[in-house]
Amino acid sequence: MCRRDEAGLFFAPSKEPTAARLSREEAAKRVCGGCPVMVECREHALLQPEPYGVWGGLTAAERRVVLARRRRRDLELKKARTANHIAAAG
Ligand code: SF4
Repeated sequence: MCRRDEAGLFFAPSKEPTAARLSREEAAKRVCGGCPVMVECREHALLQPEPYGVWGGLTAAERRVVLARRRRRDLELKKARTANHIAAAG
């Protein structure tokens, strides 16, 4: 599927117009939607992080949003743990 990427769906050519990019990304996402390793692929792309292309059904912009959300969540958890620790110490 994406390994060969004969249709050039997964990575943007240079100077791609917005409408063409959106259409290409949607087509790539449809391929990802039927892929048996989508979850693992997505996690790989988030952990690297992969800066370009559609991976695991997410565009680079969508991955940045997921990563920002995860960072916020981790920060909130850290704050809550610190507050609990202080409260327990009395
Ligand atoms: S989920 Fe990953 S491996 Fe599967 S088609 Fe999409 S980019 Fe390729």
